Amino acid sequence: MENKNLSRKEFLSITGKTAAVSAAASLPLSALTTTDLFGQNAGKTTSPPASVPQAQDEPIVLEKWKSDVDQQSGPTPTPMPPGGRIRYAVVGLGHLALEEILPALSTCKKSRLTALVSGSPQKMQKVAAQYGIKPENCYSYQTYDQLKNNQEVDVIYIVLPNALHKEYVIRGARAGKHILCEKPMATSSKECEDMIAACRSANVKLMIAYRIQYEPHNRKLRELIKTQTFGIPKFIEASNAQSSANPAHWRFKKALAGGGALPDIGLYCLNTNRFILGEEPIEVFAYQYSTPGNPLFKEVEELISWQMRFPSGVIASCASDYNVHESRRYRVLCDKGWLNMDKAYAYKGQKLTTARAEGMMEKQEEISLAEKNQFALEIDHFSDCILHNKEPFTPGEEGLQDHILMEAIYQSAKEGKPVKINGQGKPPQRGPEPKLD
Ligand code: NAD
Repeated sequence: MENKNLSRKEFLSITGKTAAVSAAASLPLSALTTTDLFGQNAGKTTSPPASVPQAQDEPIVLEKWKSDVDQQSGPTPTPMPPGGRIRYAVVGLGHLALEEILPALSTCKKSRLTALVSGSPQKMQKVAAQYGIKPENCYSYQTYDQLKNNQEVDVIYIVLPNALHKEYVIRGARAGKHILCEKPMATSSKECEDMIAACRSANVKLMIAYRIQYEPHNRKLRELIKTQTFGIPKFIEASNAQSSANPAHWRFKKALAGGGALPDIGLYCLNTNRFILGEEPIEVFAYQYSTPGNPLFKEVEELISWQMRFPSGVIASCASDYNVHESRRYRVLCDKGWLNMDKAYAYKGQKLTTARAEGMMEKQEEISLAEKNQFALEIDHFSDCILHNKEPFTPGEEGLQDHILMEAIYQSAKEGKPVKINGQGKPPQRGPEPKLD
C-alpha cells in the first residue's frame, strides 16, 4: 500500500524528527512506501554474502559496492586476538612515546602494550590509567631489570635519548626480552657492535625502528626504482630539516645526542637512500656549519650537507638542518623520468609524484596510496618476526651501517676531503621483506 495520503505531520510523528528530516530532504514524501516508513524490513535484516576465510591473517572480503572508477579501500584489518599478540614494555614516556608510539600500539594487529618504564611516577600513573596498564607492570629506571621476571612482557621498546640506548638495550637483552630500539641506534658504531653482541649472546632479537622502511609510499618508490619504471637512477637530492628551540633539551647536548642534525634527522636521508637503492655508499664528502654564538649549537651541528657515491654510479646529495623551516623531501633523477617524495620522512602525508615525457607532453602523476600508521606497521613487523622466528628487516646491523657512514661523514667534514667506506658497497645482512597488510 502506498502512503500517498499520509500528511507531513503524521510522517514526523511516526518516524521521529531526525529520520524524517533526512528522509524528507532526499525524497518527496509521496515517493516513500509504508515499508520505508515503518521499517517492516527491520525484523528481517540480512547481511549480503561475504567471504570469511578461516586463517586469522586472511581478511574478510565484503561485497563490492564502489566502482573501479574510484580508489579502492584497503583489505579489512586482521587483528589477532589480544591474548595471542606480542606484548611490549615501552621505556621512556617522552614526545615520541606519548604522541606516536602508544597511540600506534593501540592500532596494532599483532602487538599490544603491557608495561611502562619511566622516571616520572606521576606521568606514568596517568599514562597507565589511559592505556589500562596494571600498576605492577609499571617500572622505574631503577627497577627496570625486574622486567626479567615479568611473564607479560616479550619486547622492550627503547625510546630514550640516544646515548642511553646502549645501556638499556644491553640490560633489556640480559633480562631475556627481545629489543626494539629507536633510531639512531646509539652514538657510535662501537656501541652498536656491543648492542648486537649482547642481543646475540642473550639469544634475543634486535630491531632498529626505521619506520620509513615500512611506510607504503616510500616502499612503492623503492619498487619503482627496482623495476626501473623510470629508467636507471642517476642522482638523488634529499633533505630533512626542521627548526629547534630549547638549548637545554638533550638533543643539543653532545653527550646525550651523539651529534646534531645528522644523527637525529639527517639519518633519514642516509638510511632512506640506502633503502631505496639497495646498495651501500663507497665514498662520502661533507660540509658542516653552526651559526656562531647560537646557544643551540654550542655542542652539536646545526647544518650538515654531504654527498655519497654508490657502486652503481648514483650520487646522492643530502642536507640536514636544525635551524630552518621544516622540509622533508627527496627526488630521484632517473634517465627516463624522476620520482619525487614530499613529506618523505614525516609521520604521515607522504606525497609521491613522478614525471616522464610522452611525445610532446611531460606527464606528471601523483601516486596516492591508502595512508597507514607507519609506527604500527613497523611494530607489527617486529612482532611477526618473533611469532614466526624470522630476522627483522631492519636489524641491529642496519643501525650499525648508518653509524659507520655517519662517522665517515663527520670525518670528511672535519678533514675537508672525501672519505672512502670499507665494505665494497655490500648491504648488511637483513631479514626477509616484511609482509605489511
Ligand atoms: P624526549 O626527550 O621527548 O623523550 C625522552 C624520554 O627519555 C623522556 O621521557 C625523558 O624523561 C626520558 N629520559 C630518561 N633519562 C633521560 C635523561 N638523562 N635526559 C633526558 N631525558 C631522559 O625525546 P623523543 O623525541 O621522544 O626521542 C626519544 C628517542 O626516539 C630518541 O632516540 C629519538 O632519536 C627517537 N625518535 C625517533 C623518531 C622516529 O620517528 N622514529 C621521532 C622522534 C624521536
